[in-house]
Amino acid sequence: MVQQKSLYEKLREMSQNFWWSWQPEVTNLFRQIDPVRWTQLGHNPVLLLDEYTPEKLEKLANVSVLHSRINLAYRMWQEYMESDQTWGATHTGILGRRPVAYFSAEFGIHESLPIYSGGLGVLAGDHLKSASDLGVPLVGIGLFYDEGYFSQHIDLDGWQQESYTRTLASKLPLHPVVDAKGNRLQVSVTTRTGKIHAQIWRVNVGRTTLFLLDTDVTDNSAEDRELTSRLYGGDQRTRIRQEIMLGIGGVKALNAMGIFPNVIHMNEGHSAFAPLEVIRIRMKEDGLTFDAALRETSSSGVFTTHTPVPAGHDRFHSALLEEHVGPLADEIGLNHNSLMGMGRVDPQNPNEPFCMTVLAFKLSRYTNAVSSLHGFVSRRMWASLWPWRSEEEIPIGHITNGVHVPTWLAAQMRVLYDRVLPNNWFLRTGEPEVWAGFEQVTPGELWETHDALKSRLIAYARTRIARQAERRGESAETIAQMSGALDPRALTIGFARRFAPYKRADLILRDLELFAELMSDASQPIQFLFAGKAHPADDQGKQIIQRIYKLTQEPRFKGKIVLLEDYDINLGRHLVQGVDVWLNNPRRPLEASGTSGQKVVLNGGLNCSILDGWWAEAYDGSNGFGIGSGRTHVDQDVQDTRDGENLYKVLHEEVIPLYYTRDRDDLPQEWIKRMKRAVRTLGWRFNADRMVMDYASTMYVPAAGGLSCNLKQLL
Ligand SMILES: *Cc1c(COP(=O)(O)O)cnc(C)c1O
Repeated sequence: MVQQKSLYEKLREMSQNFWWSWQPEVTNLFRQIDPVRWTQLGHNPVLLLDEYTPEKLEKLANVSVLHSRINLAYRMWQEYMESDQTWGATHTGILGRRPVAYFSAEFGIHESLPIYSGGLGVLAGDHLKSASDLGVPLVGIGLFYDEGYFSQHIDLDGWQQESYTRTLASKLPLHPVVDAKGNRLQVSVTTRTGKIHAQIWRVNVGRTTLFLLDTDVTDNSAEDRELTSRLYGGDQRTRIRQEIMLGIGGVKALNAMGIFPNVIHMNEGHSAFAPLEVIRIRMKEDGLTFDAALRETSSSGVFTTHTPVPAGHDRFHSALLEEHVGPLADEIGLNHNSLMGMGRVDPQNPNEPFCMTVLAFKLSRYTNAVSSLHGFVSRRMWASLWPWRSEEEIPIGHITNGVHVPTWLAAQMRVLYDRVLPNNWFLRTGEPEVWAGFEQVTPGELWETHDALKSRLIAYARTRIARQAERRGESAETIAQMSGALDPRALTIGFARRFAPYKRADLILRDLELFAELMSDASQPIQFLFAGKAHPADDQGKQIIQRIYKLTQEPRFKGKIVLLEDYDINLGRHLVQGVDVWLNNPRRPLEASGTSGQKVVLNGGLNCSILDGWWAEAYDGSNGFGIGSGRTHVDQDVQDTRDGENLYKVLHEEVIPLYYTRDRDDLPQEWIKRMKRAVRTLGWRFNADRMVMDYASTMYVPAAGGLSCNLKQLL
């Protein structure tokens, strides 16, 4: 007879796969083992279980009656891992044993693995999770930053301070990749000035695997051991060295593990060196000429561009490129000028630096922007790469971003979904019919569920605000005051994202007196929650933080405007699940998509947003609020003023009155209608299952040599 696994072993096993993080039941199980330690340990079940022996855990399970819950969770997990009746099994068979290799500089899977800075990373994490749920054969490739991005503190002057802490791989669900003899597998990338080595970690994300390269190995110089320690840290040289490791090292790592991908998907240009390494391998192993290898490699290349902001595109000078990619270029027979030409819009222009985005475009058969509007912007922005084509013919399509529903949907809200949507709704989130059922939710029930989530957010925010004030060294009186901040009855508006200047966190403050007036009506209270990090080198972003911080200290705004430090996935989850309104006011059209508002939709919050990114195609007049009409002005200052006025107008004339118009039961009926309409009209479109299905049908499958699914249906 097979020996039954102990409860401890079952929990251990589940803690080693991030699947647990998108199962509310399993997450709660870990939390329940010791709620206080759970919080202190940063929601990391590996660390939590380190504090237990099998015997101690068995005892606890007896006291807390956890046996059946652990067994049930384990059974669910096994069923999930073994199921082969998936969407992918029917639609992506051609990928077979040669998966899609999905390259990204950041992955936001869970707060306990801090190797992301913002939306790009969280999107990559959601992509892996949906690929897992759908059964699409895909592996992720990234870097292991053992010091992450950074932790943020705001000092007494309102200035952002960054701190870094090292996370040991052994304290995370990271497994070293070893060779047949059990030795750590290593890959190396050759530069003109020496080799850089890396080891590989395996991270299990449901049925999907993420491989992370890590240069902290003894074969490297002290400097190179630090190469992958921080995300987006260092200078241009650090950047290109990280990028050769991600792209070239990534392909080498896959091959060393016996993984020969059918498709290379570059999530943003950071990994654009990857196809060059594939070309080298095809020439060497299969004897192809450079031209043939180039043709074949790029025919299986997929590239997603993510930003129209110029600083978001890596550019390198000739000497840096030569030092780092010269040896590879030699091997594939490219002289320096030809190599530079691959990263230039005009290959012959000696003044043009080498651009990773350009390289990615040139080496991909399928390229896309991340929203419909971003598609237009990108075709215009990159038109000069295809000078013989008209703008509509520029081969950049779009697949709008989406979010992973089980990750972002609150457990309490999920109960409502389970009640009114079809039984297996979570397996069919891309179908509009499935979401239509949300109309049946009774208004009172929806409102109360939302209200409970909002209360939870406020309680959570209060503890964080008090803790921040304490750390900052504020007086006991202020700290006590802070822990009573925020009013659970007030209209609660959230704004959280990276503090990149184009996102204009301070737009609402453009006319401060008007804003103060809006905030002073005691019969219709409003409050704002802000959160977000500025890049360590971005002083402009830090000034915006400082401006908001100073307002939080003014008596007229105290307790009504709060700034929550150290935005991460955990804080994000609380915010998107609890706010009434999610504010998004980027400078159009610079927000390529944005995804945080999509998380809010799932939980019944309403978006109030500039018609940019995903919202430009999502807003229908009654599923949230639109700021302005989508007009832009060449003068940035004029545009900011105009947008500021429109923001004020929509708050004053639409948002606030609608929220405070209540029936006899104190329900804002018209508001609730919008909440329902938002879930019904947006849920099915802006989720990651739909997104990954789109990538699979229109890019992965055809890039792998099959017909596109759409075409197959036509034939
Ligand atoms: C979703 C998310 C983002 C993306 O927010 P945008 O509004 O799309 O910029 C950034 N950071 C975290 C932690 C998130 O969860």
